Amino acid sequence: GRASPPLAALSQVLRLERSRRTAIVFPLQKLERYLAPGTDTARFRLFQPGLAALQRAEALFRSDRGHPIDYVSSAVRMDHAPPPALPEVCFIGRSNVGKSSLIRALFSLAPEVEVRVSKTPGHTKKMNFFKVGKYFTLVDMPGYGYRAPQDFVEMVEAYLQERHNLKRTFLLVDGVVGLQKTDHIAVEMLEEFGIPYVMVLTKIDRASRGLLLKNVLEIQEFVKENTQGCFPQLFLVSSVEFSGVHLLRCFVAHVTGNLPTVEA
Ligand code: GDP
Repeated sequence: GRASPPLAALSQVLRLERSRRTAIVFPLQKLERYLAPGTDTARFRLFQPGLAALQRAEALFRSDRGHPIDYVSSAVRMDHAPPPALPEVCFIGRSNVGKSSLIRALFSLAPEVEVRVSKTPGHTKKMNFFKVGKYFTLVDMPGYGYRAPQDFVEMVEAYLQERHNLKRTFLLVDGVVGLQKTDHIAVEMLEEFGIPYVMVLTKIDRASRGLLLKNVLEIQEFVKENTQGCFPQLFLVSSVEFSGVHLLRCFVAHVTGNLPTVEA
């Protein structure tokens, strides 16, 4: 298989000097220092696992003979989805938001996993299921665009409404452009269905610190004022620099019931 990229593993991150390490493992906390005094940052630290929890989560994302991580199947309809046997998480977002890159980064310690990208126009958009040992499944949902075909909308809505083993939906938002109209539509849908979700800000290496702060604060405010089902802490990631990826692995492990205690 392919070699894992640098910083894919915590052991590599731990060799960095302290401030760089914080930036990679807890990118949101790194931003805190640049906020105006008095800004409410309680929401930045709701999920703040210790090293032991981060390491246990990483072990789940590292495949070996006794713990296979595999692409299972793709489906265009709910009755083609694999049986809902394990706790599940799904990733949704606009096309080009960085979803395949993020899933590839999450699975970078299981280099045999192929994260398919189907970008060919007119190509049927599918839900791709990945199985992480006997612990959970992860679903790569097709990216939505501003002219999503009706059958696509129906597939995604049916999945979100009917999938009883779905523990959390990860809604990806582009860290450079912030919340867009289509993201608002996705939020409205998730709110209407009343299912728990969390927002993930992608490509943070591409945004200047000022822009990132602006987008983070805007989204935190939006979540506070307009949502019921969204986890109040935003997750920041860069699939290029690996920032936020270890923390996100830990959150996935936690919400799928595979990491009961996460205290620092
Ligand atoms: P998808 O359509 O949501 O699956 O998006 P992709 O993962 O294919 O990413 C879309 C584009 O953004 C590609 O050119 C990626 O190389 C780029 N990209 C994705 N994630 C990142 C990131 O974290 N940092 C940077 N700089 N570029 C990214």
